[in-house]
Amino acid sequence: MRLSQYFMPILRDDPKEAEIVSHKLMLRCGMIRQEAAGSYSWLPLGYRVLRKIEQIVREEQNRAGALEVLMPTIQPADLWRKSGRYDAYGKEMLRIKDRHDRDMLYGPTNEEMITDIFAQGVQSYKDLPRNLYHIQWKFRDEVRPRFGVMRGREFLMKDAYSFDLTREAGQHSYNKMFVSYLKTFARMGLKAVPMRAETGPIGGKDSHEFLILADTGESEVFLDRAFHDMDWSTFEIDYDNVEAVAKVVDEFTSKYAATSEMHDQADYETRVPADRRVTGRGIEVGHIFFFGTKYSEPLGAVVQGPDGKMVPVQSGSYGIGVSRLVGGIIEASHDAAGIIWPEPVAPFRVGLINLKVGDAETDAACEKLYAALEAKGVDVLYDDRDERAGAKFGTMDLIGLPWQVIIGPRGLKDGIAEVKNRRTGERENVALDQLLARFA
Ligand code: ATP
Ligand code: MG
Ligand code: MG
Ligand code: MG
Repeated sequence: MRLSQYFMPILRDDPKEAEIVSHKLMLRCGMIRQEAAGSYSWLPLGYRVLRKIEQIVREEQNRAGALEVLMPTIQPADLWRKSGRYDAYGKEMLRIKDRHDRDMLYGPTNEEMITDIFAQGVQSYKDLPRNLYHIQWKFRDEVRPRFGVMRGREFLMKDAYSFDLTREAGQHSYNKMFVSYLKTFARMGLKAVPMRAETGPIGGKDSHEFLILADTGESEVFLDRAFHDMDWSTFEIDYDNVEAVAKVVDEFTSKYAATSEMHDQADYETRVPADRRVTGRGIEVGHIFFFGTKYSEPLGAVVQGPDGKMVPVQSGSYGIGVSRLVGGIIEASHDAAGIIWPEPVAPFRVGLINLKVGDAETDAACEKLYAALEAKGVDVLYDDRDERAGAKFGTMDLIGLPWQVIIGPRGLKDGIAEVKNRRTGERENVALDQLLARFA
């Protein structure tokens, strides 16, 4: 992409309405634009990041055996009356009437609808287990939408729903999602610590929230520093191996980690030595629940068991805040100059800076590299604008692409370009004919 042809409305100054760094930076980089309280348009740069995060989530869900579907955003109220949540959900639910005066709502979550879909599609235990998910916009009329996309009213969520015959089988489905979450967040360069959680209005038995540590997080957290030393790399796992999956869950749940709602100071002090106690704030980026027959009973999701008897299925639901993650990653990865994107979610991998637009040799070298990178499928943003070098550097640092390739007349004399690592700030001279191999 050529910056001269892109749509990236950069703001020079911090927008007054933004309280936290991720919101400020997203507005300054022209990633989003606010349309109403808690409602945003995603501009080209922001949308690229959103799509990359979404794709990582999708790949890891698929790998764990979940099947992608897509349900509508607008739901009929009747399903929610059956589960009893139409009234219980309260003001967070946006209620709508259609032209026939039928009650509709903009879905804040999808337990009812997916349970109904499942109930109509599966009759026998032989068709279990199943896990269905979608990545769809949700609406929650939050009391205080704030912090940009971190607490929006309209936001993108991945929500998966598992269906099993027995509690035990359901536990394995839960554990698979638990492990897939570790892998998903690790791929984005995040350590999202699983913490035992309350089940809230969705209700249930077993529940964990995944939180990334950040000063601007809305939850107070207490955890064992040992989490920092654990292996968060994208370990391989055989999801069909019940014991292996359970072992990972045991490992990650054996250490103390709790949000303030579930925190037990005495237990904390017994289990964690004083020098390992970390108290801070966290951002909830994912949440998994096991709720058994809470929805299958009222919605009639029953299957015939091996003994011929009809039984309600055992279910869980598993959410990831896809749009919240965009802000969360920035909170976890930035400096005074701007964003520092982890490579897997970066909008572009390389920023190519032409230091002297109009100089025939510099233009030719940049064009050649740009075309070669594009041909190899490397995401590159080429700053081909006729601007001061200082402004170009500032923009590249602000938008945080992992690599900058800087080409100007002085280096060209020696056949070299400068390559800068945005995270470390390290600069390196690289021969022009080596550049392509470096990134492709
Ligand atoms: P919170 O405690 O932040 O209000 P929640 O517990 O109500 O979130 P869940 O019902 O667990 O949210 O939804 C699953 C995920 O969706 C959350 O873990 C979070 O990442 C994301 N999410 C929830 N509400 C919002 C929101 N208003 N804006 C952006 N993402 C959200
Ligand atoms: Mg909430
Ligand atoms: Mg919560
Ligand atoms: Mg939650």
